[in-house]
Amino acid sequence: MDNLGDILRRATAAPRALTADELAALLALAAPDEVAALRAAAYEVKTRHVGRVVSLRGLVEAGNVCAKNCYYCGIRRGNKNIGRFQLTKDEILRAAEDVVRMRYGSLVLQSGETESETHTEFIEDVLISITRMTGGGLGVTLSLGEQSPETYRRWREAGARRYLLRIETSDPALYATLHPATHSYGRRLACLRSLRECGYQVGSGVMCGLPGQDFRSLARDIGFFAEMDFDMLGTGPYIPHRDTPMGRIINDESRIKNYAGSGKKLKNAGETESFIIRHSPLLISLNMISVARLYLHDVNIASTTALQTLAPDGREQGLLAGANVIMPNVTDTSYRRRYQLYDGKPGLDENSGQIRGALAASIARIGETINWDTPGDSPHFAKRVESVEKTTGQCR
Ligand code: SAH
Ligand code: SF4
Repeated sequence: MDNLGDILRRATAAPRALTADELAALLALAAPDEVAALRAAAYEVKTRHVGRVVSLRGLVEAGNVCAKNCYYCGIRRGNKNIGRFQLTKDEILRAAEDVVRMRYGSLVLQSGETESETHTEFIEDVLISITRMTGGGLGVTLSLGEQSPETYRRWREAGARRYLLRIETSDPALYATLHPATHSYGRRLACLRSLRECGYQVGSGVMCGLPGQDFRSLARDIGFFAEMDFDMLGTGPYIPHRDTPMGRIINDESRIKNYAGSGKKLKNAGETESFIIRHSPLLISLNMISVARLYLHDVNIASTTALQTLAPDGREQGLLAGANVIMPNVTDTSYRRRYQLYDGKPGLDENSGQIRGALAASIARIGETINWDTPGDSPHFAKRVESVEKTTGQCR
């Protein structure tokens, strides 16, 4: 790319300094020296805003009961090949104690989607107990899908500070190919707005390497993140799961590591060949982290477990590409097999102590340190709250 140095200098100097074409061109980089330059620029921006420091969130997979049927996900309602579970309040509180003991500073409660008064009350009760138990010092993040504004408000008041809800893709037409007609892009968007109005730090993201996705679409996703002013990002590879409609169409043994959206993409009128994704899922996911860092500068960006599925050091590569958050699993090993969103999930039998030890060592190896015992709020959120005053906590 002729003007790469120029583009990277501009992107490093200020956020939101690139055009959609430039974003797409950066995402499409594949030559090793160009990818190295991209990552070095993203790493410089990350270092300036958050240092060479990793924030950890202990991930509690709280249940795999889901009312939805997303075509890509292994715990979708239509998958009859898994037993369903929901952790009890005591089990979740024990996991929260583990997170405190392991000094992670922050916890993510994630599960399939259930919308009911019983479930809302259950989570509310759990949150109140965690807040009481930890004196409010543990940063609690929820990732429990689409809910009513009232539910979001109740959970926020009970002590949750952050919420993760990926848009999956910001292209409504692509979204429609990934979900049954009953799943609404419009509602997901409304939920993201309502979370923001409730005063959460809001995180979103997309899957990379989806069938039918191209670099322009991913570039628009980054524009969408900026427009929505998210505080946190979680972008990672799409990885097929054998018991899903999307996974079933890719039956090759090597599908996990070699699959990319390219094979399924038909060229649309007016589209140039160069925007079709032919990268490995690992490369496109790492490029996405770097380009998002260069465009948004001060948000928290997660290096997801799905990256570790593609390469043993995938998450460390994510940190070096510009990410600053890792979510080690703290779920009891007896439940992990039943929470497989995609095939090849790592660490199914490793207990949380083993995971912690290995992660601390690998982070030290790349020359970074861990933000122990700190919630690790997004610097973007801190600035946003400072400049706009505290949000009112009112929901639509
Ligand atoms: N039910 C909640 C939270 C659990 S799913 C929700 O959907 O928001 C969390 C994330 O897992 C989803 O947002 C999706 O991006 C990701 N996911 C699901 N199936 C996946 C797959 N096959 N490959 C990669 N990521 C997947
Ligand atoms: Fe359910 Fe979330 Fe999986 Fe969709 S992605 S099926 S909402 S757990």
